[in-house]
Amino acid sequence: MIYFRQLFDMESSSYTYLLGDLQRHEALLIDPVQEHFTLYLSLLDEQKLRLCSVLETHMHADHITCAAQLREETGARVMVGLHCESSCADVGLSDGDAVGFGSESVTVMATPGHTHACMSYLWQDRLFTGDALLIGACGRTDLQGGDPGILYDSITHRIWILPGETLIYPGHDYQHMHVSSVEQERESNPHLRGKSRDEFVSIMSRMKLPRPRLMDSALEANRRCGNSLI
Ligand code: FE
Repeated sequence: MIYFRQLFDMESSSYTYLLGDLQRHEALLIDPVQEHFTLYLSLLDEQKLRLCSVLETHMHADHITCAAQLREETGARVMVGLHCESSCADVGLSDGDAVGFGSESVTVMATPGHTHACMSYLWQDRLFTGDALLIGACGRTDLQGGDPGILYDSITHRIWILPGETLIYPGHDYQHMHVSSVEQERESNPHLRGKSRDEFVSIMSRMKLPRPRLMDSALEANRRCGNSLI
């Protein structure tokens, strides 16, 4: 039996995902947020799950992870994309890698463009897209090595080719939406529907977005997996 929870951080509108195998008592967390460290521990405890791995979809600029604290508390391994500038991860993930927990496994898909090192994670019929593809939107491409052309290729060549019923679980949502599907986004995402690569690049390049308020301090902390002691 599997366990699945989508958790929300109101401050940054970030989603965190807890995936567990209840028979084998092993779990994996995607994109944990520092403020909710004790919530994650109590959920793991309540479900009798041992945390094996903490996965980051990318180096976040708007919230701080608690990957290092979770590692310290549970022995979990911290995993990020191989090209993330992380100074503390245990494993650098590459496209096609598999990360197991219990008898379950998550497949790593490189989906760069929002940042140069973004990863999405595919588990059964669910894809955790981080900020590559959001519900009715996509991540900005003007910071952290972002590139709109590369993001367009990641979405159209990697995500659109998955079965239409694949569920999309994003890294953020600002409008209280929780889940979408590949088909729904392919048909209706206004950033991408009917847009050529050039049109997408020009739309994204014209966007004038404010710099995330805590960007520099968040990035600095996240390079250390949220560990303030180094
Ligand atoms: Fe992001």
